[in-house]
Amino acid sequence: MSRSDLTRLTMAAARDGLARKDFTAVELAEAHVAAMEAARQLNAFVTETPELAVDRARAADARLAKGEGGAMEGLPIAMKDLFCTEGVRTTASSHILENFIPPYESTVSANLKKAGAVMLGKTSLDEFAMGSSNMTSHFGPVENPWKRKSDPKAKLVPGGSSGGSAAAVAARLALGATGTDTGGSIRQPASFCGIVGIKPTYGRCSRWGIIAFASSLDQAGPMARTVRDVSIMLGAMAGHDPKDSTSAPVAVPNFEAALTGDIRGLKVGVPKEYRPDGLSSEVETLWNDGIAMLKDAGATPVEISLPHTKYALPTYYIVAPAECSSNLARYDGVRYGLRVEGKTLDEMYAKTRAAGFGKEVRRRILVGTYVLSAGYYDAYYAKAQKVRRLIADDFAKAFQSVDVILTPTAPSAAFAIGETDDNPVTMWLNDVFTIPTSLAGLPGLSLPTGLSTDGLPLGLQLIGRPFDEETVLKVAEVMEKAAGFTAVP
Ligand code: GLN
Repeated sequence: MSRSDLTRLTMAAARDGLARKDFTAVELAEAHVAAMEAARQLNAFVTETPELAVDRARAADARLAKGEGGAMEGLPIAMKDLFCTEGVRTTASSHILENFIPPYESTVSANLKKAGAVMLGKTSLDEFAMGSSNMTSHFGPVENPWKRKSDPKAKLVPGGSSGGSAAAVAARLALGATGTDTGGSIRQPASFCGIVGIKPTYGRCSRWGIIAFASSLDQAGPMARTVRDVSIMLGAMAGHDPKDSTSAPVAVPNFEAALTGDIRGLKVGVPKEYRPDGLSSEVETLWNDGIAMLKDAGATPVEISLPHTKYALPTYYIVAPAECSSNLARYDGVRYGLRVEGKTLDEMYAKTRAAGFGKEVRRRILVGTYVLSAGYYDAYYAKAQKVRRLIADDFAKAFQSVDVILTPTAPSAAFAIGETDDNPVTMWLNDVFTIPTSLAGLPGLSLPTGLSTDGLPLGLQLIGRPFDEETVLKVAEVMEKAAGFTAVP
């Protein structure tokens, strides 16, 4: 097989090819390393680890030769640069951690390594995962491999914050990649780059060793090119971890086995609050087409109401900054990361943090500190926590009568780098459809089902009951077949 054939495989096909000895894990890794090096203009990787990849691939070949090997033995993947990787620089795309080399491995990346996955490098993200465009990375914006038909020269954003991972998978630089999602950071870039991404239920994957943004929302998940591939990868990433007190002590099902192709009799909720004024007509059409596909497959669409949806965005932008201001207090120039000297200890703190954090991160810390301060805590933070509960209750009520919920993933297709105005709230609106799920802790998957009139991918979101990723994946696979999305960038 040629190198470009190898990079076009799905994970499932690569797994079968390795088992049949059609090619070796080293050949597969080398093909992806070459692709990664040839696509540097995308700026998807902060750090490439080609030697490590080939070493791990060699070890995978040795295990495969003995008939051993895990669920992802020899499969090349990219790792979002928010997962601490032992001995490999981990930056969160921030200047403050630019030279940080963790002495330990995150649980999720350790699980993937144990399953035999081969890490190609660390992918760029919005600084500390705060953003929807990958434009806030200290290492510069990432480019989406997709182009507008009308203006092929315009450089588009890959979405964010897991933009480097999404671009790498879409551009065939990796078979899959890890992402993290706090308010949409797996699903929105998956939608912008025409790939599949799932944010599992909060607690499904351990947060241990993932650089924290907002701890009650952060969740790791897989990004890949098919529903089967994210099922394989999620199975390898997930599992209870005593080192994370919010990791759920539940067994990891065989997600691939859930892909039965049979969704007859399932009820699919269609929330009426997800049709805001100004929703683009192509997104609306995509959504209606998705509903029709599920109906054709024997499921029943049901209109539902999630009445507190309109409060989700303001609630998130209180809760997430509050938690971020607390989590980011540890970057003080004392223990690790950047230090800018000052005449006094206080001056050293201030100078370090002013130099180390970018504008968006500083904005979040300011908002977070404000909403947590004495006098405002009850008015903002405590109130937001109450509204968060109402949003979660809306979903719980809906799931008494439906099995899964279908919505658009994002209000638009990918936009161009530098096209959005300077208003941060416009950027925050990108996650209007993904944030409610995050606040409720539910699993949400984005699947590409069509192209915009300008030739860009558009995704639909499936939301499930807590710890029912199986139904989400099953429905997604049926829709994947029906949509037949085969376009490539
Ligand atoms: N875009 C959202 C934010 O900036 C979500 C980011 C994320 O999920 N990490 O907070």
